[in-house]
Amino acid sequence: MSKEVKPESVSLCPLGAAAAPEQELLCIFGTGDLGRSLGQRLLQSGSKVVYGSRRPHSCGPLPIGAQVLSHAAAAQSSSLVFLCIHREHYDFLESLAPQLKGKVLVDVSNNIKKNLYLEANAEYLQRLIPGAHVVKAFNTLSAWALQNGPSDASRQVDLCGNNAEAKQAVAETATKLGFTVLDRGSLSAARELEDFPLRLFPEWRLPLHIAIGLTAFFFFYLLLRDVIYAYVDQGKNISFRIMVSLANKVFPIVSLIMLSLCYLPGVVAAILQLYRGTKYKRFPDWLDRWMLCRKQLGLLALGFASLHVLYTLIIPIRYYVRFKIAANTISQIKENRTSEFDITTAWRADSYYSMGILGFCLFLLLGITSLPSVSNALSWREFNFIQSKLGYLSLFFCTFHTYLYGWDRFLRPTTYKWYTLPGYMLSLVVPSAVLVFKLLLLLPCVDRTLTRIRQGWERCDPEDDSKKSLLT
Ligand code: NAP
Repeated sequence: MSKEVKPESVSLCPLGAAAAPEQELLCIFGTGDLGRSLGQRLLQSGSKVVYGSRRPHSCGPLPIGAQVLSHAAAAQSSSLVFLCIHREHYDFLESLAPQLKGKVLVDVSNNIKKNLYLEANAEYLQRLIPGAHVVKAFNTLSAWALQNGPSDASRQVDLCGNNAEAKQAVAETATKLGFTVLDRGSLSAARELEDFPLRLFPEWRLPLHIAIGLTAFFFFYLLLRDVIYAYVDQGKNISFRIMVSLANKVFPIVSLIMLSLCYLPGVVAAILQLYRGTKYKRFPDWLDRWMLCRKQLGLLALGFASLHVLYTLIIPIRYYVRFKIAANTISQIKENRTSEFDITTAWRADSYYSMGILGFCLFLLLGITSLPSVSNALSWREFNFIQSKLGYLSLFFCTFHTYLYGWDRFLRPTTYKWYTLPGYMLSLVVPSAVLVFKLLLLLPCVDRTLTRIRQGWERCDPEDDSKKSLLT
């Protein structure tokens, strides 16, 4: 890094000014959106800013206090140059190689799509100017975030580069601006940093596809069974039930299946480990991916469960429900008849609601503890207790809630319209299987073996043993 030459003579100036530390001079190439925001923040933090521009005399409005020079003159004035220019225009920098030699070049560029170029922008820049020290940084912040400062936006600056001193210089500048710095290693990490702003919910993709697929399937399945069947078989038009009744059947079904899908991969992994007798063999890729998206699956399931709760709360104020209750009461009065109080139905209804409430409250707890701010405050054991033990309890309550909903309906032939199973029965398949398998895994003899495997114990393969003995 080049050092600024200080005059030997002492200048005469007021006492206060003489005591103030010398302001650092930083250079920014490009007077566009990011260049202007960055320049403004740097000036606010006490640095001096000089812009390098193609048109130093006719560029747009710049932060007050900044200087504008030609690229060559600006590059010579500072040891740290921010390149706020698009990669497509980097070619001209080659002619500035002598002026940029030994300087720290901060590459802030992003691309409009992934894999647009064979090499990362920062690596391309390093190839163009081998004498400079390229550091990739600030590309994950927007011009808006820079302008508003860390109090109103992301606080982290990710950086990477091959020269430790150069990275240190950029890190100090970022810290001065109020950002925290995360060193991502050498310049080979630049591609990852450049892809970062182009991410579109990658870990949500699979859970969203599952949620959309299940919702669409159950919506059309129940539309056929409930609405179309009533129209074809009895000539009744109950299409109005699509908006609330049908939706309030689809949401809990999808929610329960998705909650059980959070716990199914854990059960599959345990069975695989038991079968292989070791934990040192990789899981298949699909299982790895499934395990990694359990949090998102759970949060979506919680969203569907919350919709179910809201839709259930409005049942008493629905016109259809009020009409039915009034019609029933009037007919009882007319016929001078009173329906008997059935204690079994009372038990069933109360248990059904109680299981639903308990299951939902535990489900909420799972959602809250999956938030990074909360999970960071928990020990591993506490997190595991909530997500695993209370999670299974929540799955049990929700499954039991659904069994109570079904009650003895499975005995009635009218349940199987057009020889199809009702939606709630289909929704019980996966959660019931998960709970049964989990119970089997909790059997002392199975649990002991699984715990030993997870602590590193390996079951000897008889085939391997015989091979070994043959070799010896
Ligand atoms: P911009 O508003 O288009 O500004 C780019 C600047 O580059 C121009 O103002 C111009 O400055 C200079 N330039 C244009 N054509 C040039 C050429 N042929 N040769 C040399 N210089 C040229 O772009 P921006 O939004 O500030 O983005 C700049 C860089 O920051 C990009 O690589 C972008 O990916 C990255 N970035 C932007 C944001 C953001 O929020 N905007 C966020 C993260 C990263 P002069 O006229 O003064 O020469």
